[in-house]
Amino acid sequence: MQAIMRALVKHTAGNGNLDILEVPVPVCGPREVKVEVAYCGLCGTDVHVMHDTFPNYPPVILGHEFAGTVTEIGNEVTGVKPGDRVAVLGATAVTCGECSYCRSGYFIFCSKRRGMGHGVNGAFAQYVVVRPDQLYQVPDWFSLEEASLSEPFATAVQAVTEVTQVRPGDIALVSGPGPIGLLCLKLLAAEGIRAIVAGTAGDEGRLTAAKKFGASDVIDVSATPLHEAVMEATGGQGVDVAFECAGHPSSVRGCIEALRAMARYTQVGVCGCDIDFPIDQIFFKQLTMVGSRCYTANTWKRMMNIYAQGRIRLNDLISDILPLTEWRRAFDMCMGRKALKAVLYPGEAKTHEHDDRTTTMLDEAAVSASV
Ligand SMILES: [Zn+2]
Ligand SMILES: [Zn+2]
Repeated sequence: MQAIMRALVKHTAGNGNLDILEVPVPVCGPREVKVEVAYCGLCGTDVHVMHDTFPNYPPVILGHEFAGTVTEIGNEVTGVKPGDRVAVLGATAVTCGECSYCRSGYFIFCSKRRGMGHGVNGAFAQYVVVRPDQLYQVPDWFSLEEASLSEPFATAVQAVTEVTQVRPGDIALVSGPGPIGLLCLKLLAAEGIRAIVAGTAGDEGRLTAAKKFGASDVIDVSATPLHEAVMEATGGQGVDVAFECAGHPSSVRGCIEALRAMARYTQVGVCGCDIDFPIDQIFFKQLTMVGSRCYTANTWKRMMNIYAQGRIRLNDLISDILPLTEWRRAFDMCMGRKALKAVLYPGEAKTHEHDDRTTTMLDEAAVSASV
């Protein structure tokens, strides 16, 4: 008899169509590893999958930011054992392995790629089955809650340490205090870089967190325009490097205006639209502009070194830990910018009585989702 687990499933294409369903526990093949999910973070991409504004292939289990414990290994697998605590690189679930991008480590650009949580089944569930090369062992003293932030943290690690040259003595600007922006800030602060963090009305909680995480200055752009506030904070000099993490047209413009001559600009956020762009400033100030998308497997190796060196902890970024059954509340917090980062746990196997209660709650949630 096939074992059953509960999972948050996008069951049909279109807007919404998300529910906790009972699905078969995935079977571990000879070259695969079964991981019991401890925590899976909720991210803007999950919200986009819900609204059908990010490519997805239903029926599919959501969730791609997770960590857990190995419970089973296929008979051809070596180097991994049950009990290992792991973060999982879900974005490489399906790649061609042969194109120039795959071969050079930049699998993220593979045209055949499908990531966990939208392309193939993800981790808002009790178990996942993955390849051993997707696993990264986390240090014993590093909690699985914070290890579940590995996927967004890797994005920040690439932006700050690989794509952008940041040097001691630089002043950096991080525009957009969401999880990725705050993770960029943690890296900059750990490197001793002075970092200014900007947000807007509604970001008060996140800007307070930024101050706690080592921001030298925080700016509310609804009170003072970004350019003006940065000039004031830097004695009219401007910043050496800007990380645009808000994905908002006015933030893009504000960052470009806030840069001094010969400075660097890195696009980390996604605007989702074409924007009016002050391109002459690239010329007049001789700026360097670059995008940073996700990470490579090498970024994940570097991230594990960062964990091992112990100077950066991520647990204070987690504001809410909820059972998977409260997914709707977590989605609302994410959309309302109420949470720094919400993570969900699948919890214990539930009794049948509990199942009934959950079904009722989910029916109500489905109604509120459709209005
Ligand atoms: Zn994510
Ligand atoms: Zn490829």
